[in-house]
Amino acid sequence: MKSLKEFSIPFTGLKLGKHQFEFVVNDAFFDEFEYSLVKKANLLCKVELDRQETMLILNFAINGTIDANCDRCLAQYPQHVDIHEQQVAKFSEEAIGEDEEIIILTKNDHEINIAGLIYEYINVAMPFITVCIDEGKTPYCDKEMLDNLNKLSANTEQDEQPDPRWDALKKFK
Ligand SMILES: [Zn+2]
Repeated sequence: MKSLKEFSIPFTGLKLGKHQFEFVVNDAFFDEFEYSLVKKANLLCKVELDRQETMLILNFAINGTIDANCDRCLAQYPQHVDIHEQQVAKFSEEAIGEDEEIIILTKNDHEINIAGLIYEYINVAMPFITVCIDEGKTPYCDKEMLDNLNKLSANTEQDEQPDPRWDALKKFK
């Protein structure tokens, strides 16, 4: 997990107020996640870290494309994503019970690694059904491929049609 170290933000030296960070999220990032459905991507992740007395507020803006496979024509296409998420990390003397929503930072923490958050936000943002669609939301599946796939499924359906001769034969039983 060497390369995910670059997604750590040291916060102890930061003044109170907002600080901007940028991270490139590409294939190498997803290589670090063994079970990632996303393999190829070209994303820019902008993080605004608001350092406050008792907490950090992290605002994420992740923008770019992820290589996806079309469920209709099976082609690979760039799926556009535009993600905005916020995460709160609270300072606490000691680690207190797990809380899904809030990250707890104890006095031993000097930096926060956001790789896991970015990975989660991107996977959640991926549409359940992926279809070739351009930035203007216009589908652009390969027509020839669609025709071939339709012909193929029509043939298979035909093959599955019971042979009427069998029905005739059944009558003789
Ligand atoms: Zn398609």
